[in-house]
Amino acid sequence: MIYIPKVVDELPVMEIFYSVQGEGFHAGKPAVFIRLGGCDVGCHWCDVKESWNENDHPKMSVDKILDQVSKYASKTIIVTGGEPLMYNLELLTRTFKKYNYQLHLETSGVYELTGNWDWITFSPKKFKKPDASIFKEASEIKAIIFSQSDFDFAESFVAYLGDECCKYLQPEWSKSEQMTPFIIDYIKAQPSWNISLQTHKYLNIP
Ligand code: SF4
Repeated sequence: MIYIPKVVDELPVMEIFYSVQGEGFHAGKPAVFIRLGGCDVGCHWCDVKESWNENDHPKMSVDKILDQVSKYASKTIIVTGGEPLMYNLELLTRTFKKYNYQLHLETSGVYELTGNWDWITFSPKKFKKPDASIFKEASEIKAIIFSQSDFDFAESFVAYLGDECCKYLQPEWSKSEQMTPFIIDYIKAQPSWNISLQTHKYLNIP
């Protein structure tokens, strides 16, 4: 049975920073990132392993998070992790919506979807099965391509997604030189897919 987290008014925050979305449909958009601590998915190539233990990150009230975020000019918020859906995000999204923020979520979808979002990036991982609640709500699927078998893994979700869901294949950073040519060939043959690049890494910004 799927675990549905309780509504909480404090969340473990690893970092809040102002940058530019580097990936997917909204690449190039300035946004405030809220990175929540805690993840039990266990991707071996994860580039934020320091996020995994939620106890390593101080708990912050939703009001305090709002206070920190409000000093930046952008009204676009990207909640990422870690795995943000380890926590019930209803209160966070309700509070930010009162102040007219555009709320984006980046998730592997392994927990029940909570919160009210303007954009949901679903990035499925082989290491833990996603919950079905994410499929029809996903605005985009962003599948990470580490090896050849990841193309089939990405395709395995397509039948469950909504018609409007944007589809991206993104090379895993350490394999990008090797896998990007395969992705380009793949999307040319399967043009409903697009390539997503981690442009923030090429730009050397967080
Ligand atoms: Fe890292 Fe994200 Fe995988 Fe969690 S789901 S291990 S944060 S890449």
